[in-house]
Amino acid sequence: MAELRVFSIPLHTRFRGITAREGLLLRGVAGWGEFSPFLEYDAEVSAPWLACAREAADIGWPDPVRQRIPVNVTVPACDPGRARQIVLNSNGCRTAKVKVAEPGQSVADDQARLEAVRDAIGADGLIRIDANGGWSVDEAVRNIPLLLKAAAGLEYVEQPCMSVEDLAIVRRRVQVPIAADESIRRAADPYRVRDLEAADIAVLKVQPLGGVRACLRIAEDIGLPVVVSSAVESSIGIAAGVALAAALPELPHACGLATVQLLTGDVVADPLLPVGGMLPVSHPVVDDAAMERVAASPERRAYWERRLAEVAS
Ligand SMILES: [Mg+2]
Repeated sequence: MAELRVFSIPLHTRFRGITAREGLLLRGVAGWGEFSPFLEYDAEVSAPWLACAREAADIGWPDPVRQRIPVNVTVPACDPGRARQIVLNSNGCRTAKVKVAEPGQSVADDQARLEAVRDAIGADGLIRIDANGGWSVDEAVRNIPLLLKAAAGLEYVEQPCMSVEDLAIVRRRVQVPIAADESIRRAADPYRVRDLEAADIAVLKVQPLGGVRACLRIAEDIGLPVVVSSAVESSIGIAAGVALAAALPELPHACGLATVQLLTGDVVADPLLPVGGMLPVSHPVVDDAAMERVAASPERRAYWERRLAEVAS
């Protein structure tokens, strides 16, 4: 049996209703892999997550065609002053992803946030917005031109509406490129996005889609530019996303892999945080001292070992 570790790392702020990120790390001949499907996922949905961990541990990743990956800073649905600070403290990120369409906020809130982000990132920075599926078609068609103006240019709009069908309608009615994120959760989903011509850009995550090689195949099949994004993993899991971004023939957009800073700890000695807006290509190893600080309780370890056995069987 491969060497196993189980981590539980508190988050700085709540994400998907959770306050700590948990997962299992396994070591094989090629290095460490991360298996961290969300707690509500059953064995079937979790199977590609394990395939991703196994690829990292047993086989390793394809050769990179680039050594450093540009990443975006993420600006939550906060007030303009804080949005500005987040961009200025982003370790050189030249692309900002700004959350919009937050329940309880108005389009004026989004406009003010975008004006602040543009001011902070400068005329040559790129701004993308992410609505997390929060708009109806009519709201998207009404709001996107207003936000395009407030931001003085948008790289793309991520998931303006929840359904793939609505994305396809919005895409035909606005001037800004559309990216599909929530619409791509399982291996078949990217093909549906392609077939309905619902997006200009596909956001791919290595764990839910079965690993680096599986994602390279999907990217080739769908013929859309890819933005590699994380599932808020430890640096071991983030390295798999970086490996995909490094191996894609083309990488026209910054990736959503600068998420280690959302965690209050990590499992490696040198966390995968951006320097000059970039992440390095690496296959990090678990550090015993770091791991000790974030090791899960015996109960949670037993839970993850049970889960691993279920998915592996
Ligand atoms: Mg998104």
